[in-house]
Amino acid sequence: MKRAEINTENRMFNSLISSIKRWHRKSDADKPGRDRPGRKPSDRKSQGHQPSPPKTTRVVIPRNDHAISRRDISRAALTVMKRLQEAGFEAYIVGGGVRDLLLGGHPKDFDVATDATPEQAKQLFRGARIVGRRFRILHARIGREVIEVTTFRGHHSDGEEHEAQQSEHGMLLRDNVYGDLESDAVRRDFTVNALYYTTNGFEIHDYTGGMGDIQQRLIRMIGDPETRYKEDPVRMLRAVRFAAKLDFDIERETAAPLHQLAPLLRNIAPARLFDEVLKLLMSGHGVRTFELMRQYGLWQHLFPANAAHLDDPHALELTRLALRNTDQRIRNDQRVTPAFLYAALLWPAVNAEQQFLIEKGIPPVPALAQAAQKVVSGQLTHTAIPKRFSLPMREIWDMQSRLSRRGGERAFRTMELPKFRAAYDFLLLREDCGEIPKGLGQWWTEFQQVDEEQRRQMVRELPRQGTKGKGRGRRNRGGRRRGPRTD
Ligand code: ATP
Ligand code: MG
Repeated sequence: MKRAEINTENRMFNSLISSIKRWHRKSDADKPGRDRPGRKPSDRKSQGHQPSPPKTTRVVIPRNDHAISRRDISRAALTVMKRLQEAGFEAYIVGGGVRDLLLGGHPKDFDVATDATPEQAKQLFRGARIVGRRFRILHARIGREVIEVTTFRGHHSDGEEHEAQQSEHGMLLRDNVYGDLESDAVRRDFTVNALYYTTNGFEIHDYTGGMGDIQQRLIRMIGDPETRYKEDPVRMLRAVRFAAKLDFDIERETAAPLHQLAPLLRNIAPARLFDEVLKLLMSGHGVRTFELMRQYGLWQHLFPANAAHLDDPHALELTRLALRNTDQRIRNDQRVTPAFLYAALLWPAVNAEQQFLIEKGIPPVPALAQAAQKVVSGQLTHTAIPKRFSLPMREIWDMQSRLSRRGGERAFRTMELPKFRAAYDFLLLREDCGEIPKGLGQWWTEFQQVDEEQRRQMVRELPRQGTKGKGRGRRNRGGRRRGPRTD
């Protein structure tokens, strides 16, 4: 980061801290004995169908006591808020938008919460769509931006089963009971995600102690952590994701149930978990997220095939290197693809299975195909892998043996293949983690750098045994010679 940026960030952070201290003193004086949800033992009961909602205290932080300015917010989000307010509804920015601005970062998007129902809000935005079943949300399109507009959620009470449903594991299948700002705040996951900013007075509304937790750099679940994880096990992944992204600690009681409840991730649809994996591992903090997921026993439920090989130092190093590369590429604004990352995460299992099949007498090429098939179909029961990623992933694996066969025209042909670059990068990774000896990667690096004549020379200089499968090479060459033989 540039020095100027660091200074600006520090300044913003210091001003945030002093404003938090100011309002903290004020609100403490106003409201002695302020409760924080999830802290008091009496709030932590998890028996019964629905625990009572956590106690809240409303704290309003006036415009001069916080660092958020309207200028930091996208025009689309401001337009959505304005239109809702002009129609007589309440409207707030909530979630990552507020949290990241308070921390001096750049939010990736802004979500709006309102007391308008999705149908009422839809009337105000041309071409808006209501999406989702579990949570009905309005997508309002302003210019090129889509703003998610959610209606305040309410507490569940009897007689509303058609709007809210739970599975036998306590998982929320539907959650479309509407409420007010306060009930919405306690239905959110973490206190730092439940801060509401409004342009109507430019205040921040905090019902759950989120400002204090931003100051203490803590991810704290709202309400009883165990119940909230059971309602939606993805919240376990979100806890580590935010801890890694923000460099926050997970508060003790929020972290306590993670190990025990991690198996609940098996109840989540693989497609939703795939989306979550992208957010976890492809947002620039993959290495830290991976370490935290292992620490809290979550990793093995998302990537069991990878987890089973992590005792092997090469597999562990391969996983870390692939994540580190991904993080670096994101930081440098380079393209990243889940195909490459998944190729690395599943490779140790594919490789081990292939070796096992080869020892049973199956030739290497079909052994790789069978091994890939087995490992990928196992993974698909945990996280989906859309075809547009699983096909290139398998090409990267298939090309590994091709990269070592370089005799004749082969190296030239291999370099023309669309997946060459990814396969070459993958080869370097395998060398760097110590799975295979170094050398081949360096050969390919040079081969790409030199001119045509030097390339021919490099191929001529290959040691005899380096052109593995000599016999087949001859046959191939013979096969291509279609014309009449002159000898
Ligand atoms: P980012 O967009 O930076 O990843 P975010 O906090 O905005 O972070 P989103 O997934 O965009 O996360 O969700 C927006 C807000 O919706 C969250 O801040 C949180 O208040 C609420 N939310 C999202 N998912 C859940 C969940 N599974 N349970 C409870 N609340 C949630
Ligand atoms: Mg968001």
